[in-house]
Amino acid sequence: MNLFQHSSSQGQGFVFKQLPISVKRHTSQAPCTWGYEREEVRAACISCFSQPCRKFSPAEISAPPEIDLVRDFNPDVCPVDAITWCSETNTPKIDQDQCIGCGLCVARCPVGAMYLSDGKATVGPPDALVESKLTRVDEAQAGTQDNQLKRLPKVQYLAPIDDDAAVLSVTLKLTSISDQSKVVARVTRNVLVALGLRAALGREGNVHHRMDGFLTWRGGAGGPLEIEAGQDSLEALRAILDSLAVLHSQFSWPLLELKPLIVYVSLPTERQEYWLVNRDIHRILGLRIPSVTVGALLLLLWSGEELSLETLDKIAESLGAKTIRQIIADILEREIDLPMKAFGILEPAR
Ligand code: SF4
Ligand code: SF4
Repeated sequence: MNLFQHSSSQGQGFVFKQLPISVKRHTSQAPCTWGYEREEVRAACISCFSQPCRKFSPAEISAPPEIDLVRDFNPDVCPVDAITWCSETNTPKIDQDQCIGCGLCVARCPVGAMYLSDGKATVGPPDALVESKLTRVDEAQAGTQDNQLKRLPKVQYLAPIDDDAAVLSVTLKLTSISDQSKVVARVTRNVLVALGLRAALGREGNVHHRMDGFLTWRGGAGGPLEIEAGQDSLEALRAILDSLAVLHSQFSWPLLELKPLIVYVSLPTERQEYWLVNRDIHRILGLRIPSVTVGALLLLLWSGEELSLETLDKIAESLGAKTIRQIIADILEREIDLPMKAFGILEPAR
């Protein structure tokens, strides 16, 4: 069985008669608009055969072949299995009760058809005006559609998100969801891929490679990923040091060239030894171990940003300040509208 084969048998989709010159998101509560020379029309699902809102490609969730790490081949974009395919409308179908509003599917749709309405992903089929811009095709034209999607202007975020506090709601759901570790691991991997990295999840199997995951950054740098759904911040540090040692000793990666990352749901509290030990690791070994939260990554994603090595280095250098608020605000070029210390998303909660 090919795990990456999409389960839908959609049969039909659309191609553009003429590509729009812009794809703009004016608000998070509505689909984008497709801009043409003389008019704008509301974006809608073109039933694309590759369905990036639902599935990652094998390359996006793989590690370099020499690192025999990947054990989790689940290509689903939705971390809570809320998306299926509706054969009647030929569009993704969202289970509104399941959806936690992470916005991953929204960010992945290249035509800007999906949006969050009241914190739930929504997608509508094309109306008559939109259909006038499209031609219905069958799967034999999947290549043409794919080429058009590659040439389509990237979604522009004129008003990226109305409400930063939405990350509070997602974070809260992640702290109370059943099967929490698995969902947090999947949302972390998936948001990192959506931010432009290759992210592979490991964990089971070979006891020598027990790292949670491996990240390949733009430009080719690599590093271990540790995901901490709870508050065991020192264990996360120990685990990532272990992963760095394995990558250095078994795979000959130069230690100081590795780019490690720990992702928390909430940053360790000020009282936890994490901050002190992490500073000592830098002082003694010369290694900086940056930490971010799922919420901080979502703020970047919702604004159409990518996660660059430059940002990672800034986060690593800010360890002493115990906050990532200003770094995220600088990237978004605006203040973050989240109460201080809220759930440890941008600074420790206590
Ligand atoms: S919602 Fe977007 S990504 Fe998903 S099938 Fe429709 S056009 Fe493709
Ligand atoms: S917003 Fe997140 S949880 Fe909701 S359907 Fe999309 S990917 Fe799934």
